[in-house]
Amino acid sequence: MLADVSTGAKPQWRAYVVSLGLGLLLFFLMALDQGQLLSLIQGQVAYTQNLIHESVHDSRHVNGMPCH
Ligand SMILES: [Zn+2]
Repeated sequence: MLADVSTGAKPQWRAYVVSLGLGLLLFFLMALDQGQLLSLIQGQVAYTQNLIHESVHDSRHVNGMPCH
């Protein structure tokens, strides 16, 4: 099958922006979050429970991110 080239090459800006946003969000969650994201839902308790930090804790160490 030949690719359909009749539509031309449209820039995929939306895909680029969404991918960048998701990548930055995942990087934030893996490397930087100390309860900020869940504090939007849980309030102040999120900073003491630190659920995202605890679930990605080993990944932080493996990737050399500062942790504790
Ligand atoms: Zn640690």
